Amino acid sequence: MHLKDPLKIYTAESNIEAHLIVEMLQSNGIKAFAEEDLSTVTLWAFGRISQIHQPNVWIERSSESAATKLIDAFEERKQERASASEADAQIVVLCEDCGQQSFFAKKLYGTVQDCPYCSAYVDVGELDWEDDFGEPEEEDEEEEED
Ligand SMILES: [Zn+2]
Repeated sequence: MHLKDPLKIYTAESNIEAHLIVEMLQSNGIKAFAEEDLSTVTLWAFGRISQIHQPNVWIERSSESAATKLIDAFEERKQERASASEADAQIVVLCEDCGQQSFFAKKLYGTVQDCPYCSAYVDVGELDWEDDFGEPEEEDEEEEED
């Protein structure tokens, strides 16, 4: 299958994403291909061979406006997912007492929690522990829990 007037509509982060977009476009009646589906002649004409393969999504130029709308919606959902995972992000805390890494939700930033390994107090979000190495301090702050 060939596109009559190919237009590169999107550069995906991965082949999987490229195929997701192609499927999404095709399910909406838009002819679309991931770059690897095009003939090598067409590919090399547009691609940068020496660089990391960029999975581009190609469509028929005539369907550009419909495809752009669909891809915008796709991007929006992707960003929503990205910001959702940002909210779930965790802070890595290194326990000064036992040296174990533990993970706390970002919303606990600035609080004092218990090390899950040794129950020592750990400061969530305080990244100055490197300075304290070799000079252990007594932690006698009150534990605060809501
Ligand atoms: Zn610990």
